[in-house]
Amino acid sequence: MYVQVAQELVEPDSARRFLGERTCCRYCGAIGPGIFGKQTNAHALPAALGNRTLFSLDECKACNDKFSVYEDALCKAVGPFLTLGGVRGRSGVRKTGQSRSNSRMRHTTLDGKRQLNIASEGDADKLVSVDQATGLLSLTVPVEGDVFVPRYAYKALAKIGLSMLPAEELQRFRKAIASLQNLDAEPNGGPLKVGFSYAYVGNAPPALAGTLLRRREYHAPVPYMLFLLMAGSVCFQIWLRSDDLDAHVPETGRLGIRFTAQLPKPEGDYFPISYSDPLQFDWSELTPRLQPFEAFELTFNPQTTEGNLRPIPRA
Ligand SMILES: [Zn+2]
Repeated sequence: MYVQVAQELVEPDSARRFLGERTCCRYCGAIGPGIFGKQTNAHALPAALGNRTLFSLDECKACNDKFSVYEDALCKAVGPFLTLGGVRGRSGVRKTGQSRSNSRMRHTTLDGKRQLNIASEGDADKLVSVDQATGLLSLTVPVEGDVFVPRYAYKALAKIGLSMLPAEELQRFRKAIASLQNLDAEPNGGPLKVGFSYAYVGNAPPALAGTLLRRREYHAPVPYMLFLLMAGSVCFQIWLRSDDLDAHVPETGRLGIRFTAQLPKPEGDYFPISYSDPLQFDWSELTPRLQPFEAFELTFNPQTTEGNLRPIPRA
């Protein structure tokens, strides 16, 4: 049903690469030698999600400054996953929970080994339980995390998808591109839906993949372009709406691509991971709200010391 039109991968030891050309800015159309700044000025995939090596040459400094608001909202939306996964942003691993709140997660590195420190204060009967049959210990860690603006976070995803579009496709996405210049503007009509899935890998490697999928049959009633962003232990998918080829596509569908990836191990080689069936979020609103997960449940086997973390979405 779909054909892959672009894919960009970033791994911890990737060589530096550059997308686009320095002729004019892809987003605002500006031209001129002084508008772009350093070659490493604009990250094609967010630096805060671990990208150190993939840059966009065709994003001007002014647009890059403007778009940082979107990127920040996206990182806030998945803050607890970045903490748990130990993803290093520009200023280290993100913290979740204020130091004086009753629930905190911290990621630290001691003697080269990653450590996760989870503190939860409250009624132990409610937070901790032991399954008498299996002996498994379960600890519920409530997380408040950050407040984010859903529409901005959506636009961060749209912008990354747009940055990877082949040049001949750009004319079909003028509305979405123009909307990036005005912080609050909607990139397209209809709800701004996001499919969100996660995989639990205790130590999420800073591996990222952006993928654009285009529908194969011109008149099929499915989105013309889908964009998927895999970042460590989380994966997003959106319908990147074209100006002219999506009017006949019903709104009712869900974003349900099941993604699997081969993630690099820090010591070399790869391990396969599968992401969950995507949760469906509507990120149309401009009203700030708390990030989408109210707690994480840690299930721990005291015999084997194996543990598993499961996010619990807000009701
Ligand atoms: Zn620009």
